[in-house]
Amino acid sequence: MVRNFKSGTKKMIFSFLFLLSFLIVINCNSQSDNSEGNSNPDNYRDKKAKNIILMIGDGMGVSHIYAGITANKGHLNIEKLMDIGFSKTHSADNYITDSGAGGTAIAIGYKTFNAGIGVDADTIPRETILEYAEENGKATGLVATSAITHATPASFIAHQPSRYLYEEIAGDFLKTDIEVFIGGGLNHFNKRKDDVDLTVALKDKGYQLVYELEGLKKINSGKLAGLLYEDAPPKYSEGRGDMLPVASMKAIEILSKDKDGFFLMIEGSQIDWAGHANDTKYIVDEMLDFDRTIGKVLEFAEKDGNTLVIVTADHETGGMGLNNGDLEKGEVIAKYTSGNHTGVMVPVFAYGPGSDNFRGIYENTGIFYKMMEAFGFSINEN
Ligand code: MG
Ligand code: ZN
Repeated sequence: MVRNFKSGTKKMIFSFLFLLSFLIVINCNSQSDNSEGNSNPDNYRDKKAKNIILMIGDGMGVSHIYAGITANKGHLNIEKLMDIGFSKTHSADNYITDSGAGGTAIAIGYKTFNAGIGVDADTIPRETILEYAEENGKATGLVATSAITHATPASFIAHQPSRYLYEEIAGDFLKTDIEVFIGGGLNHFNKRKDDVDLTVALKDKGYQLVYELEGLKKINSGKLAGLLYEDAPPKYSEGRGDMLPVASMKAIEILSKDKDGFFLMIEGSQIDWAGHANDTKYIVDEMLDFDRTIGKVLEFAEKDGNTLVIVTADHETGGMGLNNGDLEKGEVIAKYTSGNHTGVMVPVFAYGPGSDNFRGIYENTGIFYKMMEAFGFSINEN
């Protein structure tokens, strides 16, 4: 009996250990399954991208992202983009870039002076990636949670010596064939010093004008100008709601109908404004809104298989540091070194065909050349 009891106990211990190791194997499997699900498609190397979706979190440094990860209790969609690099953000005339020079470097591949829009350091207009896409037969779009005439989206479509020339920037929208743009900034189109109502000119060019988020639902194709707010859209927490993911997916729905592919820039504009305000809750709200949009964009890209998704920032804002936090409670304790932008490198995340080219450390202008390469475009001389 005693021996039997002992051997019975041994058996129980062995079967327990067996079960335990089995559970560990299952657990490891589920982790590797998870990371496989997040990795790039097998054939992504050396493949050209039919579509590029460039997502800019204005002012989004590593701390802003980790504040979002913490608030979301450990994970964000941005972690699914597995080719990662860093971009050096200084402008042509300043260690600390503004969003004009920062956006312009990404849009045209030239560093410029702070506040410059789509021009090089000598104020010479240079062709933007959006204009190259148009020239190569692709559809194009811009979506932002600021005025659509604000520095970041403006950098991709306008050529002006100053970001503050909002009405001139609005005029530049009519000089291109952009298919979809959605954001705020209606006043820069129809309440202008020159009394010209550019919404009339937009209608003449074939744009369907939409002035509220609900109205986007009715449009499924054709040209779309979504001027949803007179000036800047409100904060996520103050009524903007799901404008960014809804507008972004509407843009993708329309642009993806072009058989030649598309270029779309989506901006989480207010991560920067929250950084300027040193307002941690505002940063987290805007970061989570941007990340929900990343999740939806990745769903499209995974299904499509020919779409390169890039998520990056033009610079860091606030000198944000995470002095403490709680991943279980989703609490973030942040401190700030600045009410302005800082000089640190910002991350670049890429997914899809050509994504491996985004690894390493490079100038912000490198993002332009990498996008050109992914599209297979050549640079126009002069
Ligand atoms: Mg911006
Ligand atoms: Zn800023």
